[in-house]
Amino acid sequence: MKNYYETLGVTKSASHDEIKKAFRKLAAQYHPDKKTGDEAKFKEISEAYAVLGDEKKRAEYDAYGRSYSGGAGAQGQGGFGGFDFSGFQGFGGANGVEFDLNDIFEGFGFGGNGGGRRARGNDVAIDIELTFEESIFGAKRSVTLTKVNQCATCDGSGAKKGTTMETCAHCNGQGKVREARQTIMGQMVSVRECSHCAGTGKIPKERCADCHGDGVRRQAESIDIVIPAGVQNGEMIRMTGRGEAVKGGTSGDLYVKLHVGKHASITRDGETLRSTLHVKLTDALLGGTYTVATLEGDMPLDIPAGVTHGETLRIKNRGVPKGRSSDRGDFLVTVEIDMPKKLSKSAKKIIEELRAEGV
Ligand SMILES: [Zn+2]
Ligand SMILES: [Zn+2]
Repeated sequence: MKNYYETLGVTKSASHDEIKKAFRKLAAQYHPDKKTGDEAKFKEISEAYAVLGDEKKRAEYDAYGRSYSGGAGAQGQGGFGGFDFSGFQGFGGANGVEFDLNDIFEGFGFGGNGGGRRARGNDVAIDIELTFEESIFGAKRSVTLTKVNQCATCDGSGAKKGTTMETCAHCNGQGKVREARQTIMGQMVSVRECSHCAGTGKIPKERCADCHGDGVRRQAESIDIVIPAGVQNGEMIRMTGRGEAVKGGTSGDLYVKLHVGKHASITRDGETLRSTLHVKLTDALLGGTYTVATLEGDMPLDIPAGVTHGETLRIKNRGVPKGRSSDRGDFLVTVEIDMPKKLSKSAKKIIEELRAEGV
């Protein structure tokens, strides 16, 4: 995975201003119109800044390794792939020239509609609440999402059933159109996706009635999500291609963020589950059998004579499942010895005898 911080040459703790400064310097250096220009490098630093320059996206990137902002509700093709540059238009560029970055980025085919890259549907992010037990043993969820999907009637072609496709006259079936435009940097030739055929080079002779020829349409879709055993709070499941569809391109991904609830008495520590057990002083001295609440119900646990306060006792293989194997972590029980608050006369007498014995 790309390290955006390295790309901009800043540390993970860099301030917003430091990031902005680093980006400006690099952007001025690598702008393709410069002698020192490098289009690939320029794209790279722009991509890094699109995330790190935005507080929300940066926080997501820090937490999950990528930003997933711009979910189902976000408009515009490209979704995740198309960066949102709205946050830094018209900064003071090289040589003190103010220029509109939108011009430049459009020229390079950013934003998903451009030349070199295929259109990509929006990524969609959803949240799922799990109980503690479900996070340990796995769960299934069925969610209904209203999003842009491939039209089932025409299988995404946009053509009415039984009719043929014709070569797009606007692009002569190329799916792309060349366009020259003037920017403050001089003339830029860009290759754009043909808007008439959405880059497919073909248009239907007769349009599909359900999607009006778009090949995609907003629909409610039921999606089954399988949550594996052993997931942690805040983890993400990525379902490739289950985001929004786009005509003539690839579908975005569906990100499922997991929120795990707490358990009344059990906590998790990696593959280990933990709880505490209150033991009477006499049982600590003489030993005894207690009942421990595990995620699979009550289990008997032998307390060895002479157990100490804070000692952990192990119930093997009753912790968190390890991957696909049937192997599991352990369940650790921390002993807390309850000291009697008040002693009866006879109890006191017995304990004084013990003291005399040197216990
Ligand atoms: Zn259709
Ligand atoms: Zn076309």
